[in-house]
Amino acid sequence: MKCWHCEEEPRASCAFCGRFVCKDHAATMSTFITMFVGANNTPKGLAVANVIWCGECEPQPEPISMPELY
Ligand SMILES: [Zn+2]
Repeated sequence: MKCWHCEEEPRASCAFCGRFVCKDHAATMSTFITMFVGANNTPKGLAVANVIWCGECEPQPEPISMPELY
């Protein structure tokens, strides 16, 4: 495998899409591991900061509708 951007040796893979990236092209982003309803019916999210992001894919901020599946 090679870096998606420059074809150098990769150091990590994107947490969102799986593309491999070298250290120079690795970026970071925050993400949620899971979300759940906590005490008092309050939605809560378990987040992780600084996960590897390739800079190419576009994690969406909200769920997208997929009506064609039904
Ligand atoms: Zn990616």
